[in-house]
Amino acid sequence: MNIILMGCPGAGKGTQSAKLKERFDLTHISTGDVLRAEIASGSALGKQVADIINQGNLVPDALMISMLENIVKSTSKGIIFDGFPRTVAQAEALDEMLKRFGREITHVIMIDLPASEVVNRICSRRQCKACKAIVRVDMKQPLEKCPSCGGELYTRADDTEERAKHRLEVYYHDTLPVKSYYENSGKYAVVNGAQTPEQVFENLVQILTK
Ligand code: AMP
Repeated sequence: MNIILMGCPGAGKGTQSAKLKERFDLTHISTGDVLRAEIASGSALGKQVADIINQGNLVPDALMISMLENIVKSTSKGIIFDGFPRTVAQAEALDEMLKRFGREITHVIMIDLPASEVVNRICSRRQCKACKAIVRVDMKQPLEKCPSCGGELYTRADDTEERAKHRLEVYYHDTLPVKSYYENSGKYAVVNGAQTPEQVFENLVQILTK
């Protein structure tokens, strides 16, 4: 099973990927998490991409593709791709790369969320520094600790209203065409992302086990 979870920023890809990883014993590759870890470590790559990510723009394809290849090479488990591919060029490179490794994408699932919900969702989410869980906070009663592990919660630098709007524009311009790339592949399915996380997960499991 090699799954691509698609969806706009804030659709719930990270939350659902973490649950699917547990349920089906998959390797979860979140390219956003990998890039944020590079920034936090102060590596040369992290320094190169920090501004791009904080502005809500896309990291160049060539860099993303070589970064991804190193991770894909290192696992023999099924993979859930979260945040990749984000351009048609990345989708083409992923197909070619998996073929070389004797693998292929088995499912492409779009978590569909109305644009009107996106900015609100992004501005009210926090991430746990320790367990990486994504937590939605009530702005009137902001949480400081992760409800799962007690770790420190933080707001991503690109989760402000202005950046969220920009990321949505980038999504429509660069990433939505990836949907057409897969739509007629026989592997493509859509889930309603406006449901509760539990309902979304149930729908995903149904698609993956049928
Ligand atoms: P995410 O955590 O998936 O929302 O990603 C956060 C940021 O990392 C994005 O806004 C981009 O700046 C960068 N990023 C993550 N994945 C990719 C990708 N596949 N291609 C280009 N940039 C990416």
